[in-house]
Amino acid sequence: MYRCLGELVTRALASGCVDSALPASATLTRIRRYSEAVGEKDDDPNFFRMVEGFFDRGASIVEDKLVHDLKTRETPEQKRHRVRGILKIIKPCNHVLSVSFPIKRDNGEWEMIEGYRAQHSQHRTPCKGGIRYSTEVSVDEVKALASLMTYKCAVVDVPFGGAKAGVKINPKNYSDTELEKITRRFTIELAKKGFIGPGIDVPAPDMSTGEREMSWIADTYANTMGHHDINAHACVTGKPISQGGIHGRISATGRGVFHGIENFVNEAAYMSQLGLSPGFGDKTFVIQGFGNVGLHSMRYLHRYGAKCVGVGELDGSIWNPNGIDPKELEDYKLANGTIVGFPNATPYEGSILEAECDILIPAASEKQLTKKNANNIKAKIIAEGANGPTTPEADKIFLERNIMVIPDMYLNAGGVTVSYFEWLKNLNHVSYGRLTFKYERDSNYHLLMSVQESLERKFGKHGGAIPIVPTSEFQERIAGASEKDIVHSGLAYTMERSARQIMRTANRYNLGLDLRTAAYVNAIEKVFKVYHEAGLTFT
Ligand code: NAD
Repeated sequence: MYRCLGELVTRALASGCVDSALPASATLTRIRRYSEAVGEKDDDPNFFRMVEGFFDRGASIVEDKLVHDLKTRETPEQKRHRVRGILKIIKPCNHVLSVSFPIKRDNGEWEMIEGYRAQHSQHRTPCKGGIRYSTEVSVDEVKALASLMTYKCAVVDVPFGGAKAGVKINPKNYSDTELEKITRRFTIELAKKGFIGPGIDVPAPDMSTGEREMSWIADTYANTMGHHDINAHACVTGKPISQGGIHGRISATGRGVFHGIENFVNEAAYMSQLGLSPGFGDKTFVIQGFGNVGLHSMRYLHRYGAKCVGVGELDGSIWNPNGIDPKELEDYKLANGTIVGFPNATPYEGSILEAECDILIPAASEKQLTKKNANNIKAKIIAEGANGPTTPEADKIFLERNIMVIPDMYLNAGGVTVSYFEWLKNLNHVSYGRLTFKYERDSNYHLLMSVQESLERKFGKHGGAIPIVPTSEFQERIAGASEKDIVHSGLAYTMERSARQIMRTANRYNLGLDLRTAAYVNAIEKVFKVYHEAGLTFT
């Protein structure tokens, strides 16, 4: 923290962002911007600049390779210009929409609601990203989250650009009718300005939104701007099944978090670097935020043998060194509206982020791990379920302390991956497995019968028929893959493939535990390729 304004001015001057020839008012404005950008006060950086900073680090590492790999007939200098030009195109947010609209409250009063949608990149269309309801929402927040979405989609090879929306409300202060009004009106505002549509921009759930809100959005769009469009319901994902949703979407982000951790926890080389043994069996974990991502991450980690010892929420945290059962906690929260008072745990005093455990999963909101608490974190693995939970300062400290951070842009990409499957299902107008289900099952039986007949031809049937009995696992698979099976295997495959890519990049550039930079490098390379191969000319 700055001790005085003088120190801030000195540092701003040293940074070159102000010079003594500027008029006083301009100097003050620039100093304010500088202080916001570096965010040194309490390590609370501007979120968008924070993401840009991570991007810059990745870009600086991969730039030489991009220049080297360019297959153009340009001079080295021209190639460098081209690469830097494309990197400049990738970084900023392309479009930001800010809207204000009135709603009539149940008590007859009128209120103005603010909302935003940022589209970071159209290198692939449509743009994709969640809608959150929170009083913390701001232009910078949606811009940051939209840019993260671009890199996240690239990391897991989902062919979308990044976007994000936020409505600045505390949903707990509104009735269901009021929330429906707000959601439907916000959808109309997005539609009017070309910020929603199956081929343009496709929202999804995020903090404090879920199937219900997605269903209102789909219905509003399909019955207004989209009434002539057979694909109208593909304008949003995370819908209920009856509205074109897909099995497995609700839990997809948590399931992805589990697979993401699994890929690194099973890697002996990484675990020995951390002084841990591979596998989940002996691991304890703590979750901050018992919402969609927190609950489902907890469920899968618990199912595969890890032990949840602590859960933190806004109104209090709970602790049990013998383990907390996710189903019991889910039922308790449903019945009581809080995790506080859960009978099979004790209250935890102090910050749950600093509790003793092997794996810490921040699954609440951004900037939770800062330089103020980074040195107190006990976990050896930080698994970023939330978007942007770690500030750059904290990230540096974790690297110095040999703590492995599995970055948000990879780890929580399960949601957008399954959203992609839902979008494809909507465009295909058929559920996964519908056309092949019976054919697959019949083929599998034919295969067994053919093996049986071949054996009987060769060895005869003197000792009786030679029955080919499928194992119980194969018997289950014989029935053909259901939509859920396909979604689960597609997600697991995606998370594994991307983890391998991140590990390869971390090795290639000698990045050690800096998996975030490795993920950014991968994302930048992929987005760069799209721009470059589109034959981009700078006009
Ligand atoms: P949610 O609203 O369902 O749950 C968030 C939970 O965190 C709530 O229970 C809230 O009370 C709690 N919380 C908020 N601030 C907290 C704090 N400071 N300390 C403790 N608890 C706190 O939201 P969600 O959908 O689970 O999203 C959580 C995070 O995951 C967000 O960063 C979001 O952007 C990210 N994310 C969500 C999805 C998704 O599919 N829902 C996908 C990718 C990333």
